[in-house]
Amino acid sequence: MAKDRIFSAVQPTGDLHVGNYLGAIKNWVKLQNSGKYDCFFCVVDYHSLTGDMDAKKRHSQVFKTVAELLALGIDPEKSTFFIQSEVPEHTELAWIFNTVTPMSELLRMTQFKDKSGDQKKNINVGLFDYPVLQSADILLYKATHVPVGQDQVQHVELTRDIARWFNNRYEDFFPEAKAKLTEFPKVMSLLNPEKKMSKSYGDAHVINLSDSPEIIEKKIKKAVTDSGKGKAPGAENLMMLLKSFADKGTFKQFVEAGKKGEVRYGDLKKAVSDSISLYFNDFREKREGFLVDEVKTRKIMSTGAEKARLVAIETMDRVRKIVGVR
Ligand code: ADP
Repeated sequence: MAKDRIFSAVQPTGDLHVGNYLGAIKNWVKLQNSGKYDCFFCVVDYHSLTGDMDAKKRHSQVFKTVAELLALGIDPEKSTFFIQSEVPEHTELAWIFNTVTPMSELLRMTQFKDKSGDQKKNINVGLFDYPVLQSADILLYKATHVPVGQDQVQHVELTRDIARWFNNRYEDFFPEAKAKLTEFPKVMSLLNPEKKMSKSYGDAHVINLSDSPEIIEKKIKKAVTDSGKGKAPGAENLMMLLKSFADKGTFKQFVEAGKKGEVRYGDLKKAVSDSISLYFNDFREKREGFLVDEVKTRKIMSTGAEKARLVAIETMDRVRKIVGVR
């Protein structure tokens, strides 16, 4: 029997951070290594055109994101790993999906509301339409499972709707995809723990996986904790980070102290930064390796795109016939 298919992606809008890792990428590696799924992972550079980044920066950021994902354990022998713009069928399918998607449904997307608030001077049509391109990314491979963070669940639901709208209008062709969440699907910002950790709020809000131990310590020292008894969102976020990155004994020690109301935030912060630094030690080294060996890294990506295109071409051949353009 064919394995269930997974698709997920990340935008090359900045260095990967702990939110991306705990919400999605850690899960990608786990699902890939389970051997139970046929995995497709992608760096979605066309999506990043909806933001303000300049072309030169984008070009280098795509490469950095690729190097970081490889260093985290995305294995091109086990997964199909590629860059979106190297498979032009993504944008072609997005156009077809545009024509079955009601505008009123896109207006409901909370990410559009958030993102247009963040870039008030550049509310472009692409920003409005990006969930449709995202649906095309997923359905081009007829993926049924989409490992993402909480913020993307609404878009995966839209993907299901788009499959249904297409199937009802033409014929039953696309499967219905489901989001797959992790234990911590929403990592909060260090400085504003009411909001998700996101690179769009600024560097001090996020811990990048490539941050040096000194920077991690500095950022976590400034994290908002609140003065409650470990129940406040900032402190909860730090406990969640500790659970994810520290050894079980250390975590348990802080849980016990929390029950007695004896957690000293200075100690908690030190434990969190030490554990994160240690956890990504190996990653930092591997990342350098992939960045330095640019020719090899780029070859991995072109091979990945060739593999992805085999599936993409087959889907689009069928879709063009189904909608009556060929
Ligand atoms: P965007 O910035 O448009 O949300 P990204 O490309 O940065 O998208 O996100 C890549 C993945 O990381 C997505 O699956 C997203 O849900 C997840 N993610 C991003 N931020 C967080 C966060 N703070 N907590 C958990 N998951 C997150």
